Amino acid sequence: MKNEKCLPPPFPSASYSVIQCRMIGYYTEALIRLFYPASCEICHATLDLEENILCQNCASDLNGLAWPMEKTLADGHFEHLDHVWAVYAYASPLKELLHGVKYTGKDYLLKACRQKAIRLAQAVTSDFWYDAILPIPIDRLKLVKRHFNQTEIFAEMIGPWLTPPVKPSFLIKHRPIPSQASLSQHERAINVYGAFKVLRSAKVAGKSFLLLDDVLTTGATANEAARLLKLNGAKRVDFLALARTVPIPINRSKAEIGAVLTTVY
Ligand SMILES: [Zn+2]
Repeated sequence: MKNEKCLPPPFPSASYSVIQCRMIGYYTEALIRLFYPASCEICHATLDLEENILCQNCASDLNGLAWPMEKTLADGHFEHLDHVWAVYAYASPLKELLHGVKYTGKDYLLKACRQKAIRLAQAVTSDFWYDAILPIPIDRLKLVKRHFNQTEIFAEMIGPWLTPPVKPSFLIKHRPIPSQASLSQHERAINVYGAFKVLRSAKVAGKSFLLLDDVLTTGATANEAARLLKLNGAKRVDFLALARTVPIPINRSKAEIGAVLTTVY
């Protein structure tokens, strides 16, 4: 029998190393914030060490916009889309966050929405089989101006927690779409017709895809992408949006928002 006293001390366990790394990260962050205090991206209040991107109040407002899980499936007629889900209702403070992402290049703001999006995407992808997740592309002009496609960044942010791979190169938008803001649902469908092109048409036939986009208004854009994929032989095309526009009063209370989220879906 070996003399246990002669054995070398055990290596620290993995969990011990993880705790050590977290503590180092915590103290480093505390030191950085001592000299460079972080502020909430919405109300600009100084953030506590436990808070990130949003203060507790704004984070609570954002959480209040999340559809209850059983109501995330959007009701409505989307001709070429088989299922449509949305994580949040499109209202403040999510509007400001997405505005910050699109127009000031703060793509890290998407992290504030990541957890709930992962939870819904995991539920959807475990109920249905997909061959790939396809972020809706933006046209080249927008890409040159913005330097990134926010939906692609978001897809890559949540992708590691999902089984189907994210494939941003399947679809391209080969012409800009004129503003849709004042158009009816029918006019929007005409406006986006032919805007997309499938780059890997040989890999589409018989496959199922989950499209991803930031905001769902009428669904015309995602519906057009789905039409093209199905024209190339796709078996099923579903759509998951980070946010969906709904009629929420501007000066609404949390109770009013909750009422809207449980009745409109
Ligand atoms: Zn705040």
